[in-house]
Amino acid sequence: MTATIIDGKAAAAGVRARVAEIAADFAKRTGRQPGLATVLVGEDPASAVYVRSKGKATSEAGMASFSHKLPDTTSEAELLALVDQLNRDDAVDGILVQLPLPPQIDASRVIAEIDPAKDVDGFHPVNAGRLATGLEALVPCTPYGCLYLLKQQLGSLAGREAVVIGRSNIVGKPMALLLIGESATVTVAHSRTKDLPDVVRRADIVVAAVGRPEMVKGDWIKPGAVVIDVGINRIPTDDGKSRLVGDVDFAGASENAAAITPVPGGVGPMTIAMLLRNTVVAAHRRAAMPDPEGV
Ligand code: NAD
Repeated sequence: MTATIIDGKAAAAGVRARVAEIAADFAKRTGRQPGLATVLVGEDPASAVYVRSKGKATSEAGMASFSHKLPDTTSEAELLALVDQLNRDDAVDGILVQLPLPPQIDASRVIAEIDPAKDVDGFHPVNAGRLATGLEALVPCTPYGCLYLLKQQLGSLAGREAVVIGRSNIVGKPMALLLIGESATVTVAHSRTKDLPDVVRRADIVVAAVGRPEMVKGDWIKPGAVVIDVGINRIPTDDGKSRLVGDVDFAGASENAAAITPVPGGVGPMTIAMLLRNTVVAAHRRAAMPDPEGV
């Protein structure tokens, strides 16, 4: 079998187009654009690229983008004061503090300070708890994007065997909760899992979120499974340059899977699309309007 390649760029473009319609409608009805504030502390080049592309995508969707850049010497108290100011600002519907933060700042304290209604990353313990208990929540963007791709590919996920590799708060755990919410039968594998290949072999759905280049081998994939590769790993090439690969051996897995996401161009574009989606959803909820449809 040769797998269908799941086009995350196309799916993300669809979500972003719908978000732009929703944002325009919101602006017409309320007299203001939905707004996203991004906060970047320090000079980490990858973080700077992420924050820039998030800001650009926000403006392209017809939303207000507020960008805050702080030096890497910023104290925790200074960052908490900015978060407090953004919490109180009515033009701001979503607050994104780019991680990682410099060592003098405790990320969990900063996340806990964000108003849960503006927590468009879905990392606040209130949103994590609401997701875990099946209540309305703001859901972390990357796993939400993975779920979108899975449902687009498979329709109902009920009763399917899903294996999530990785148990981080950002990807693995919320992914598992979303799959449980869709009535899949879910196994969470992690660094202490025994016989990972055997665990993966029983999966109809594999979500890999580990951060180890091409760790998941092609012969671990059950014929006909759908594979979502969250990993983004940069590896050196023979010509002295580098390239991006996922956590899954793409060529090997493509021989068994029914469908698979590429890296890049799979999950990555969905993360930003879902951030924009969460921002318009947060704007509607804060304005006591029903959730927008179609995203
Ligand atoms: P993390 O380091 O927080 O968690 C990695 C998880 O993998 C841990 O739970 C660990 O138990 C598990 N693990 C480690 N070694 C393992 C092994 N040998 N076998 C099985 N499990 C193992 O990472 P994260 O933040 O969840 O990110 C995971 C990957 O996804 C990274 O490559 C990251 O860059 C990528 N990522 C991509 C996006 C995106 O937008 N596409 C977003 C977030 C993260």
